[in-house]
Amino acid sequence: MRIDVVSIFPEYLAALDLSLIGKARLQGLLELSVEDLRRYTTDRHRTVDDTPYGGGAGMVMKPEPWALALEDVLERGAAAPGPAAPGAGTPPGERPVLVVPSPAGEVFTQAVARELAEREHLVFACGRYEGIDERVVDWARERFEVRPMSLGDYVLNGGEVAVLAMVEAIGRLVPGVIGNPESLVEESHSDGLLEYPVYTKPALWRDRPVPEVLLSGHHGRIARWRRDLQLRRTAARRPDLVAALDPAALDRADRAV
Ligand code: SAM
Repeated sequence: MRIDVVSIFPEYLAALDLSLIGKARLQGLLELSVEDLRRYTTDRHRTVDDTPYGGGAGMVMKPEPWALALEDVLERGAAAPGPAAPGAGTPPGERPVLVVPSPAGEVFTQAVARELAEREHLVFACGRYEGIDERVVDWARERFEVRPMSLGDYVLNGGEVAVLAMVEAIGRLVPGVIGNPESLVEESHSDGLLEYPVYTKPALWRDRPVPEVLLSGHHGRIARWRRDLQLRRTAARRPDLVAALDPAALDRADRAV
């Protein structure tokens, strides 16, 4: 998978050199590059923003540098080796996905992460100030599949933090990035529920014992206990997730435990 990020703070994305995503980059499973939007400005002050038409507080990101940056990213993506090779490019006929982080976007979920993990080329456009001139999004629709994406119902100062979260959530689903793919199956949001609580040694810590069933070695009882805790925890913390589940599918999954 190829990932391009465009930002006025490229150093913000340095965290993507670390941990499993950094390792996946070294292994060639993810080809990630970060571009400084100011490189695509043409004036002496490297200006990327201007006052909003119609008035109001704050500044808006100018369209010109964005178009030049995105055209450059597209060109480099097209020149990348084909998807069969490490450091894949976009297969013919598939447009790259342009993710535009925005509190006014569709909420980024595990389902979206799964969907985007299947794609060959993702481009992230980090907004700042009051956001990017809307015409960039319209223009980009002719070249990309555009996905305005929100991390949640709150406002960040810029898209970089959202991109760190999204790239990590997507990148860990790319085959080979997580050593044991089983750990992607039994985790929160994989089946619409939250994960059960987890424990490690010692069995007794500060007068708090590990739940006895986990020491029983009885796989059936452990699975039942975990399932019950998943259901209870999800109902208590995220009733919206329980309401969104198909009751028949929930029953079937429950009987299978
Ligand atoms: N004026 C915008 C609005 O009210 O929708 C908010 C702009 S915000 C201060 C600046 C940038 O931060 C946005 O362009 C976006 O890139 C990013 N951002 C802020 N909140 C976000 C969120 N919840 N999810 C994703 N990106 C966000």
